[in-house]
Amino acid sequence: MNKPFTSIRPLLALLFLLSIQVAIAQTSNTASQVDLLFKESYELMNNHRFFEAKTLLEKACALDPQSASVHYNLAACYEKLGNTAKAISEYLNALERNPHMPQAMLNLAACYQNEENNTLALSYYQKFLQETPNAKDRPFVQALIARLTKEKLPKTPISSQGASSDQDYFEIVTKGTSQARWQTHPIKVYIFQTLANQKQSSGNYEIIVAAFKEWSDATKLSFSFVQDKSKADITFHLTDSPLKDAANLGKGRPEEFKRGLTDITIKGRTITHGTITISSKSLSNQSLVAEDELKKSCLHEIGHVLGLSGHSPNNHDVLFAIPDSPTVWPVLSKRDKATINRLYAD
Ligand SMILES: [Zn+2]
Repeated sequence: MNKPFTSIRPLLALLFLLSIQVAIAQTSNTASQVDLLFKESYELMNNHRFFEAKTLLEKACALDPQSASVHYNLAACYEKLGNTAKAISEYLNALERNPHMPQAMLNLAACYQNEENNTLALSYYQKFLQETPNAKDRPFVQALIARLTKEKLPKTPISSQGASSDQDYFEIVTKGTSQARWQTHPIKVYIFQTLANQKQSSGNYEIIVAAFKEWSDATKLSFSFVQDKSKADITFHLTDSPLKDAANLGKGRPEEFKRGLTDITIKGRTITHGTITISSKSLSNQSLVAEDELKKSCLHEIGHVLGLSGHSPNNHDVLFAIPDSPTVWPVLSKRDKATINRLYAD
């Protein structure tokens, strides 16, 4: 689940319709300044320049502290810049001014979850569902709520849980798919990189191979690395260009950028081909990501290419919907391993 900033336009209603000419001029002047700052910051956000966008939005906020949209986009900038505490306070500001912003509720819940404040996360996920009964994200949010609710209850001993679904997230992650999986042994992988600085490529290559090895160590699957793209089952492309999410294009929303994209070709219940593209650029500030972050993205996308199509609601799994979350470690969790092994069980 990506957390897009809004495409809602600021509400620049004139607060006072005074008869005095000067007052009207000042009000509309402020309004057009805010509008301009909002538009410029919006462009910057579209170009991933969140720090600069944040600076403009702070100015807009000082001019018009009542605009929910300005507070919302400011919150989104803080979130992208990794300042969760500030993001939370700005989402709250936005909701105080407009209580009907479902995307703000969802993002706020995710921020609270990242801060491990499950009580407030739960409350805002629930508010989101009340606000948007037909949301596309509904099953995912329901799964998050189920998990957070369970976490708040006193722990029951493992033995009494039996084969509890807590041990894996198989049902969630394969919902709506044919539970397709690879039948090829070994799966041939072709790795290529398009980078401005070729010096990084050998370090990156080791990280990518290590991520494949981690999945093969956890399963009966094996991978071999080939030099000929035409012979590959999986092509893995690492780029330092930002990745645009085509799914969100042309819907009047700002372009969403992703760390990774995966496509698979399925025949019957068999995965016959896969492509992974990962960007080594940070989503927040366009710098190159640290090795651990790259490893997390690799583990996440390889999980998808192996047939785990959906996302885990547990923020410690590599298949968590927000793989950049600091709660995700660059290693497979027990639940990641249990889930892939259920998919590949005979
Ligand atoms: Zn994903």
